[in-house]
Amino acid sequence: MNFVIEHSELKDIHDKVEAGKRIDEADALRLFESRDINALGAIANAARARKVGNRASYIVNRYINYSNYCILSCQFCSFARKKRDADGFQLTAEEMAEKARQALNLGITELHIVGGLHPSLPFSYYTDMLHALKAIDDRLELKCFTAVEILHLAWLAKKSTRETLAELKEAGLSSLTGGGAEIFDKEVRKRIARGKESAEEYLAVHDEWHRLGGRSTCTMLYGHVESLEDRVDHLRQLREQQDKSGGFTGFVPLPYQPENNDIDVRVPPSGYDQLRTIAVSRIFLDNFDHITAYWVGMGLKLAQVALNYGADDLHGTIVEEHIFHMAGSQTPQAHTEQEMINAIREVGRQPVQRNTFYEVIREVEPDPVSQAA
Ligand code: SF4
Repeated sequence: MNFVIEHSELKDIHDKVEAGKRIDEADALRLFESRDINALGAIANAARARKVGNRASYIVNRYINYSNYCILSCQFCSFARKKRDADGFQLTAEEMAEKARQALNLGITELHIVGGLHPSLPFSYYTDMLHALKAIDDRLELKCFTAVEILHLAWLAKKSTRETLAELKEAGLSSLTGGGAEIFDKEVRKRIARGKESAEEYLAVHDEWHRLGGRSTCTMLYGHVESLEDRVDHLRQLREQQDKSGGFTGFVPLPYQPENNDIDVRVPPSGYDQLRTIAVSRIFLDNFDHITAYWVGMGLKLAQVALNYGADDLHGTIVEEHIFHMAGSQTPQAHTEQEMINAIREVGRQPVQRNTFYEVIREVEPDPVSQAA
């Protein structure tokens, strides 16, 4: 047995996980509270290896925000604008199509599209947008909209969530995004995202989408006013939903960014906190195949380290990001495919390019330099 585990206070949890047993909320809280990050990382890394072997993935994608106008004012949000604000924007379908055409030259397989809850655009704007983007290249996967956007679109369309999702799917929607989960606890939600959909509504939208045969990711925004118990409760609700509908392809923990918003927390989560959150997520979410280290929030260097703490995916090339950068993220706007491959190779993993559903598109050739050595 690993020396680190043998002498760790977490050995009993390690043994439980190794025996294929599910850990409970008390175990997850102990993992969060432990200072034994090496043992925690070793347990998570073994759990990761059982899921994906030696592979670590990335996707070649592009983000597009169609608009940052929003009728809500979530306290943590640095992205949303009102119509009176000089830096508000909204794109036409043609402007989005132009961005998509340019990104196709970079080899993207996915467009990741979200925006605020726009005060006046009609439902047809969204279906026209999907049709226009799909018309450029039918193979392009359109990963669009958070759960609260879906509720907004259903309200616009005067249809049920299910009918709205079915219509969007018909227009070209490939996958829902996981954004907007924040922290599910009601009191925390009131403090950071007053007026936003409840946890039940977030999960119900994903549930409907999964029952239509769709797939989605899910998230947790952590490191602000929530407690460790709130994080565990959040993970529990995601695990229960996955037991029910099974359509989550991956989990993406999002470290809070503290600038330009109304939350009185001015320090982002530390590197230590980010690594333990990835690790506990990997161990607790035993019914999830993939855990993403989101470099936009973590930085590629820490995301790379997270590949040894339970993560098996670095997300994508992105190209243009607004939401985290308007909240103070100091990371670059984009990383090239080669930078992702290099980061994965350096920790001894086999880089694979994935699609929207975390399916392998190609195994990257072995590094000729290290082969020669
Ligand atoms: S988080 Fe989303 S819903 Fe909330 S204000 Fe920002 S854009 Fe609007």
